Amino acid sequence: MRKPLTKKQLAEFARSFGIDLLGVANVERFVNAPKHMHPASIFPEVRSIIVVARRIVRGCWRGIEEGTNWLSYTYFGYHGLLNTLFIPLGVYELACFIEDHGYEAVPYYPGVPEAQPPNEPLRDGAPPYDVHLAIRIAAVASGLGEIGWSKVFLTREFGPRQRLAAVLTELELEPDELVMPSSICDRCMECVHECPCNAIPHIREGKTVRVEIDGYVYEWADLDVGKCVLCYHGADPRVSPFIHKSLPGFEFDVRKQRVDEETAYRICWTLSTQPWRRTREDTSGFVIEGHAQIQRWGVGGSYGICGSRGCMRSCFDHLERLGKIGQKFHGGSFIRRERWLLPHKVPPRK
Ligand code: SF4
Ligand code: SF4
Repeated sequence: MRKPLTKKQLAEFARSFGIDLLGVANVERFVNAPKHMHPASIFPEVRSIIVVARRIVRGCWRGIEEGTNWLSYTYFGYHGLLNTLFIPLGVYELACFIEDHGYEAVPYYPGVPEAQPPNEPLRDGAPPYDVHLAIRIAAVASGLGEIGWSKVFLTREFGPRQRLAAVLTELELEPDELVMPSSICDRCMECVHECPCNAIPHIREGKTVRVEIDGYVYEWADLDVGKCVLCYHGADPRVSPFIHKSLPGFEFDVRKQRVDEETAYRICWTLSTQPWRRTREDTSGFVIEGHAQIQRWGVGGSYGICGSRGCMRSCFDHLERLGKIGQKFHGGSFIRRERWLLPHKVPPRK
């Protein structure tokens, strides 16, 4: 028999498993979503989409901000534990809790809807079998926050400092109120100025993406994902001391590249994760030893080298200085010292 379950009970239960924020969208808010991103393509009986967030601890960024430590970010604040253990644990327990009350619940791990493999549908009229929600748009629909100009998801509690996942369920819940467009992001353009590779167009360029949810229009910059991937995943000598150590004489200016996302991934992952023969000059056994070690610390999955210098760290610093971040710190602003950037030309070996 089904037992009643309220949003308050869900939020309290999720909190006991480390989930910081929980919001609810009804399926009607996805009326404009394409089939390959629609929650009903995964679970046709879905009534509610519960989106959860867990914070990236502010100090996870400290080492990259100071230019002294990269592992803590990938391990605790990105793919290593946050994406693969801390959030999924809460999501799975939440799904169990809902099913204990008699409602089916799909624990959903956010994949990448943009990267569609060439699969054929398994049933007439169905999308191919690689359906993924656009998790940030789902989070907007659940009232957790809005997408900032940078394309990063922002909440009132943590600004850009969280990661997201979801549970799809047939349990009917009252949807949360939407956060109004541009009520967190003030279009300051700090993300644009501090992105090392010019991946985020300035508002003057007029390159935007728009979605409409329940009559509200949310708009953000049409990110150059190719440049962002090159920088974030380790092809940019300006943000990686490890390139300077492993590839003497290398010269690569990401700001001048015009590659698509797929090409950027091929370049970065090959450079960053592949083994290579040992030589007298470099006995590490990797193309770029530092990146390979960070990727291994990311439980063999994704890894971060740029550490979101503009779109997350600068944005957070800006919103925090304005007093727009709910969680308060008393030891000073996040960015406290002159920031570092390396040249895109790596000096040759002496
Ligand atoms: S830095 Fe943050 S608040 Fe400022 S424009 Fe970018 S996303 Fe918006
Ligand atoms: S992750 Fe780095 S490269 Fe990508 S948009 Fe953010 S600051 Fe720019």
